[in-house]
Amino acid sequence: VAGTVTQCAPRTTAVATAAQPVATGPVTLADVELSKPLPCLSGDGVAHVLVRLHARPLGVVEVRLRPGGVPPHCLAGIIRTALGGPIAAHLASHHEVLTAVLPVDGVAPATGCGPRPVAGLTATVVVTACASGPELERTLRGIAAQSVRPLDVLVVDNRPATSRIRGLVAALADPVFRYVPEPARGLSCARNAGLQRAHGDVVVFTDDDVVVDRDWLAWLLHGFHDERVACVTGLILPLELETQAQVWFEQFGGFSKGFEPRLFDLDEHRPDNPLYPFAPGMYGSGANSAFRTDWFREVGGFDENLGTGTPARGGEDLDAFLTVVQSGSMLAYEPAAILRHAHHRHYADLRRQIYGYGVGLGAMITKRLTAGTGEGRQLLRHAPAGLRHLLDPKSSKNAAKSAAAATGYPRNLTAIELAGFARGPASYWTSRRTAASRRQR
Ligand SMILES: [Zn+2]
Repeated sequence: VAGTVTQCAPRTTAVATAAQPVATGPVTLADVELSKPLPCLSGDGVAHVLVRLHARPLGVVEVRLRPGGVPPHCLAGIIRTALGGPIAAHLASHHEVLTAVLPVDGVAPATGCGPRPVAGLTATVVVTACASGPELERTLRGIAAQSVRPLDVLVVDNRPATSRIRGLVAALADPVFRYVPEPARGLSCARNAGLQRAHGDVVVFTDDDVVVDRDWLAWLLHGFHDERVACVTGLILPLELETQAQVWFEQFGGFSKGFEPRLFDLDEHRPDNPLYPFAPGMYGSGANSAFRTDWFREVGGFDENLGTGTPARGGEDLDAFLTVVQSGSMLAYEPAAILRHAHHRHYADLRRQIYGYGVGLGAMITKRLTAGTGEGRQLLRHAPAGLRHLLDPKSSKNAAKSAAAATGYPRNLTAIELAGFARGPASYWTSRRTAASRRQR
């Protein structure tokens, strides 16, 4: 692609249209709203530009930067090429037509496209943390500054003896924050401690290393308009892509589940996927999730045998999402509910994380296979498709990685994940035994 039209050539691209970006080095992150004047992008290397129209995210476009900057008319051309389809579709909803050239001073603004939280629906936000520090403070300040104020924000401290989080919460001096010590270790235990104390109609979970958009909570609440929706998940984008490990994590699949709002259930909203409903990575992530409080309490919250801080290392969020769908409720994915997550900077941590994903997935499947609910047989029927999804280099899970391998993506990350997956069953039983002996003490 490069070399043909050097002036304004897009570098193949939009995460929105399937192709993964191929950046290898530090990546500049930018954010544009098409109803406002487009900026001139400066810097070198490449930029990933999140493109929104009337507050709705449409995709991420990769732009090759150059000395002197990429002027607005070039950026407009790149965005027009990569995201013309979704832009035209949105404008059509206003009876407007996408012109051949995107106006650099912005398309017409519109009212009514922003979030419409359900009237009267209150929210408790639960932030789980193990240490005090500037990242946690940044997360909490972002939540306090939301366009829709939460009823309360529970800061669950999973290392109350040493973390100093109590002091940080006190220093913020905002009555919206409540400090909750939870010495029983594990992400699921910490989130469930928040679930038990939540006062809101909806309980929202996030981590201590994220930066939330101003309308993040409003969009999550927007997702609950349909009464059948028990859970809403949002979009997680990288906070920075400074190191190779962070770029690889995005190529691994990152946390992004795309830019189309989606509904999942067992009826009319079944995606065309042979693995469904057991399709890992389709629903979202626990770090950007919201549940109806009463409903989630009734099903027991997150499984405390799964998740970070247990031998199972993960899988608790996918387990909860599966419970939503299998119980006959609906899960809504709302990509406008955006937060940015600080990915691991170092390769050793990335490897550990990917291994942990594999273990968590294996543990979660073991739990469901052995739960004696009839789900086991259903899972076994999906096993051939599941193995293909995990192992076939051309599967939706692996295609982007195969492409990225040409630019140095380490293929052994896939092997590491599979090794974790194979370890999952044993880890799940260890986790159960550990939890049982903890209860006896
Ligand atoms: Zn609009």
